[in-house]
Amino acid sequence: MTSTGHSTDVRTAAQRTVLISGASIAGPALAYWLHRAGFTVTVVEKAGALRDGGYPIDIRGTATEVVRRMGILPRLRDAHIDARRCTFLDAEGGTVASLKPSTVVGSVEGQDVEVRRGDLAGLLHAMVRDDVEFLFGDSIDTLDQSAQGVDVTFHSGRQRTFDVVVGADGMHSRTRESLFGPEEQFHRYLGYFFALFTVPNTFGLSHELVMWNTPGRAAALYAVGDDDELHAFLTCHRPEPPLAALRNSDAQRELMAAAFAGAGWEVPGLIGALREADDLFFDTTGQIRMPHWSKGRVALVGDAAYAPSFLTGQGTSLALVGAYVLANSLATHRDHTAAFAAYERDAREFVAMNQALVDNGGATLFPTTAPALEQRNTMLRARATMPSATVRPAHSALALPAFAPLP
Ligand SMILES: Cc1cc2nc3c(=O)[nH]c(=O)nc-3n(C[C@H](O)[C@H](O)[C@H](O)COP(=O)(O)OP(=O)(O)OC[C@H]3O[C@@H](n4cnc5c(N)ncnc54)[C@H](O)[C@@H]3O)c2cc1C
Repeated sequence: MTSTGHSTDVRTAAQRTVLISGASIAGPALAYWLHRAGFTVTVVEKAGALRDGGYPIDIRGTATEVVRRMGILPRLRDAHIDARRCTFLDAEGGTVASLKPSTVVGSVEGQDVEVRRGDLAGLLHAMVRDDVEFLFGDSIDTLDQSAQGVDVTFHSGRQRTFDVVVGADGMHSRTRESLFGPEEQFHRYLGYFFALFTVPNTFGLSHELVMWNTPGRAAALYAVGDDDELHAFLTCHRPEPPLAALRNSDAQRELMAAAFAGAGWEVPGLIGALREADDLFFDTTGQIRMPHWSKGRVALVGDAAYAPSFLTGQGTSLALVGAYVLANSLATHRDHTAAFAAYERDAREFVAMNQALVDNGGATLFPTTAPALEQRNTMLRARATMPSATVRPAHSALALPAFAPLP
């Protein structure tokens, strides 16, 4: 990577070209808004096709307004998972408490939506696929910045120049690494590792989540509908991140099996299923916290810049809001330096508030000691009788500006 070019760009949006790396949530959402402002947009995605992983994600507060302005809120409401019950179990599988999901996560019933990740990614892609160039099965190899633009060499060998490049390539962003250096500088480990995979629904669960806990360990099964498939989730507390397991799927399976040795309820069967799973998603629980989200003509959006961790349930909402604010900033400033400064100015406090949810009881569902687990159970039993949800102000803390591209 060479110098970080800075020049005042007087071209119209239509003449400005943007390359986005990553076609999950933040990437296509950004592509939609930039195209709407008249930019010429290319999206490169390393997967060979749109990834349709179906784990449920939430769209809450300010992010709901973003999807409303995109015109897809009604379709997302149709796809809403509508989980009806969260049941918490003790070590032996006895019921501790059974609650409405909104009471547990602080979402607003009837307003916030929860959909399969693949449903949202598919909808966003469908919104832009006819207007935006998608390069599946490719990725950025090198970025060279100058005053004129960013020269990009792709893994496939093709070479192109863009005015601006945006990394929307997730928590372990390669764009971030090539621009700012190793992830360790920005990764804040939150004390857990987790695994997600699907299992057959031999439990007769429907529209519900069941979670088993002992201190420092949790196993959950989520039936997002009446399907014959359940999303299984295992998480374990560990003071130090299990770095050796991160790139080795056999090591991940062994680590989980050792962590859950001797566990009750259905856990032994889940560990057996984990060993066979062909869709295992394993990671540590952590956040990305960066002092700046851009360098020269390259910026980051979504998990790449500010992953908040699943403990907040706000990853997708931050990605959608970040994409809107970044697109609006680029559309209202001809100079990318001013645009990126506006993006940070307008979105950083919202991001910080949502990342801070982990410091304000974000990990309450996964206590690491017996007294903390007892305290959580007492809290859940009390909440089970509460009439309404405790809404988290952070979810709606940003009032979106009007989308107002320069002519
Ligand atoms: C298949 C999948 C499953 C997930 N499951 C969970 C989950 O269970 N729990 C959870 O908390 N979060 C999960 N996430 C992350 C969660 O969806 C994010 O918080 C949220 O979607 C933020 O979206 P994003 O677009 O910023 O990043 P992501 O959704 O992570 O998307 C990043 C995209 O960039 C692509 N990409 C990565 N590297 C490159 C590269 N070098 N070049 C080009 N493209 C690249 C990826 O293939 C992906 O499509 C998952 C993400 C994916 C892709």
